[in-house]
Amino acid sequence: MRILISGASIAGPVLAYWLTRSGFDVTVVERAPALRKTGGHAVDLFRPAMEISERMGVLPRIEEHATGTTVLSAYRPWAVKPARIDYLKLIGAFSDRHVEIMRDDLSEIYYDASRDGAEYVFGDQITGIDDDGGVSFEHGTRRRFDLIVGADGLHSGVRRIVFGDDVPERFLGGYLSVVSVPKPLALVGEMDGYFDPDRVAMIYTADHLDDARAVFMFRPTQPLDYDHRDTARQQAQLRAAFSGMSAQVDSWLEEVEHTPAFYFDAITQLELTGWSRGRVTLVGDAGYCPGPAVGGSTSLAVYGAYVLAGEIATAAGDYASAFAAYETTMMPSVVGSRSLARANAKTLVPGSRWGVRALVGVARAVSVLPLGVTQALARLNRKGVRLYDTMPLPDYPAVTART
Ligand SMILES: Cc1cc2nc3c(=O)[nH]c(=O)nc-3n(C[C@H](O)[C@H](O)[C@H](O)COP(=O)(O)OP(=O)(O)OC[C@H]3O[C@@H](n4cnc5c(N)ncnc54)[C@H](O)[C@@H]3O)c2cc1C
Repeated sequence: MRILISGASIAGPVLAYWLTRSGFDVTVVERAPALRKTGGHAVDLFRPAMEISERMGVLPRIEEHATGTTVLSAYRPWAVKPARIDYLKLIGAFSDRHVEIMRDDLSEIYYDASRDGAEYVFGDQITGIDDDGGVSFEHGTRRRFDLIVGADGLHSGVRRIVFGDDVPERFLGGYLSVVSVPKPLALVGEMDGYFDPDRVAMIYTADHLDDARAVFMFRPTQPLDYDHRDTARQQAQLRAAFSGMSAQVDSWLEEVEHTPAFYFDAITQLELTGWSRGRVTLVGDAGYCPGPAVGGSTSLAVYGAYVLAGEIATAAGDYASAFAAYETTMMPSVVGSRSLARANAKTLVPGSRWGVRALVGVARAVSVLPLGVTQALARLNRKGVRLYDTMPLPDYPAVTART
């Protein structure tokens, strides 16, 4: 069976790995000319994604590339000194098994694990998909596949071709920007965060990085009139939102015009109720992004890729039943991650001074309480803050039998 995957970031290579281990013939087409090595950001792997990575044999390499952030210094406009927060304890309250890693490092690790078994085509993209599996490409010649999977992110091209432009989505009220800035602006192991009502700016780096990443999240009173292709306008909107926040944040903004990597997007959640049509399905952010930076979507992408491969192998080529089982297994976690992301979008960028005080106060308390106490309290939380650790990890004998 020939399977085409669009997108070689996180979900694509993980899916390619598990499908090839099950004996499928896999091609991955990636629009970028090579594996992306710049402009990424730190992402989180929680328990199930750690276990899937362990089963792939790549966990030691992932742990070697952890960002190593251990302290968050939270600056508030009314306080002379920052609140020093134990970042590991803070994350530990939500997860017993977690690693933070740069997305580009993670992508390379999964790519390396899958590339011997799969055909990778860079610098091309799908332009059309027929009902019988005929696929046309921007550059390559037309080919036929039994299944086509969109693993091509929040603005998925496969989704646009199959579902159209008008898919249900929800704007979570905020905007997110990541800017590559000179490394000396940050300290290895320490994240600095500046918190004001409706805007948060943070900076971090890691030992093995050549730069630092400044992350900006903000909620304007009115949705911005912005165009996702107009970088100059986005940069002006970012400066307008953050300028004057603090001398440090102003120094990060000075880099915006010269940065080699600039990311800007609305924090948007997809609300599709199903991800499959005929021979085509979606995985990761392409199908069920709960919102970048607010919903643990990297773990969901790894988990979704593993489940999809397992269901395809189990159904032995009956893609209709495989896709139905994939959606049934994923749906509770997807619905949970959407509601967690909606709550996080409000909590992480508080709308008032009171909200900032509460956010930093809770983080500080968590970082001084014993870990066992905060984990017990988190387990009582009904909004599902431990959702990602508790996603059940199915075993697929049809896959493991061939590994
Ligand atoms: C700024 C930012 C901060 C984030 N912070 C976090 C965080 O703290 N924690 C967390 O867990 N997650 C975070 N995320 C989310 C995380 O990056 C994604 O959930 C994860 O990368 C999803 O993986 P994916 O493979 O589904 O999609 P993506 O990583 O988006 O990859 C899609 C791939 O498809 C390729 N592509 C796009 N269009 C096409 C096309 N038409 N044809 C072929 N290829 C195409 C792209 O080049 C890319 O390689 C953040 C995201 C952003 C943007």
